[in-house]
Amino acid sequence: MTDIKSLSRAELEALMASFGQPKFRAKQVFQWLHRGAASFDEMTNLPKALQQKLAEECLLTVPQVERKQVSKLDGTIKYLWKLHDGNFVESVFMRYQHGNTICVSCEVGCLMGCAFCASTLGGLIRKLSAGEILDQVIFAEKESGQKISNIVMMGMGEPLDNYDAVMRFLELVNDPDGVNIGMRHISLSTCGLVDKIDKLATHQLQLTLSVSLHAPDDETRSKLMPVNKAVGVDRLFASCRNYFKTTGRRISYEYAMVDGVNDHDWQADLLVKHLKGMPGHVNLIPLNEVRESPYKPSRRVRQFQKRLESQGVTATVRRKLGGDIDASCGQLRKKALGLKDE
Ligand code: SAH
Repeated sequence: MTDIKSLSRAELEALMASFGQPKFRAKQVFQWLHRGAASFDEMTNLPKALQQKLAEECLLTVPQVERKQVSKLDGTIKYLWKLHDGNFVESVFMRYQHGNTICVSCEVGCLMGCAFCASTLGGLIRKLSAGEILDQVIFAEKESGQKISNIVMMGMGEPLDNYDAVMRFLELVNDPDGVNIGMRHISLSTCGLVDKIDKLATHQLQLTLSVSLHAPDDETRSKLMPVNKAVGVDRLFASCRNYFKTTGRRISYEYAMVDGVNDHDWQADLLVKHLKGMPGHVNLIPLNEVRESPYKPSRRVRQFQKRLESQGVTATVRRKLGGDIDASCGQLRKKALGLKDE
């Protein structure tokens, strides 16, 4: 079965041609798919025979809302989607002043093993297709009735570990006949797969790259993030420097503040040193406690921020949204799976 929503415009045109259909059919189908049609029957401007052919030959992914939680504090909505094969992923819809933002997942589970993260606890189950990443945007808009203008790829999974599907997703979501969200409204967050960061740089996309740094020294970073063991912080910053040089885009660094682990003054100073001569923005994240993890939220967030800023590095503390609905880091899916196990 062809996963039709993951097809590019050109591929969809080729598929229509193989069915003996004119080119304009591809545009019609594309628009239906990206508007969240739940079946081929809904595509009422297509001939019945084509609807039938599509239903026979193509997989139409339509995620089901398994659970939905709405924050009473700030209107954040957390969706747990059931995929066509019974797997679950989550997305979080957030209201910001600069527009509605959705945080999407790109994998079921994660391979990266970060010590503080709930998404990785069960390992990687599978990667999502481009269409399944896109579905989270399409169906959150449809379900909430609210327009989404920004996307952050900061949900479950590692985007650069699912490189081809993510690239395809970016192209699809950017299409004026589809969801039509511009690259400047998209952030992609990575734990730091350096070869892939180098590859991404060559595309010169206008998106914002976020690097999950969490520590400026190898000892601490390798303890928190196994991915660091093979490459190290120096190599990571070399890729970041190259990325900035090639794209001209300032990188954002995620830094989850962990009590007594990465919140020392000397670590702020070392971070400043790494960023010398390269504009960067540090996003300090209050650690979300995960029951299975020994790490606690830092009590030095403001001091750490001041120490960075006094040395010329811009640092903001991320506002917490959806605090009453576990709107972070694999918690909802885990709960749902936990319930199923009982
Ligand atoms: N794999 C990608 C994107 C998904 S995680 C990445 O590593 O960047 C999105 C962000 O949430 C990352 O910065 C991640 O390190 C952070 N994160 C994960 N668990 C967290 C927790 N318990 N508290 C705070 N931030 C967390």
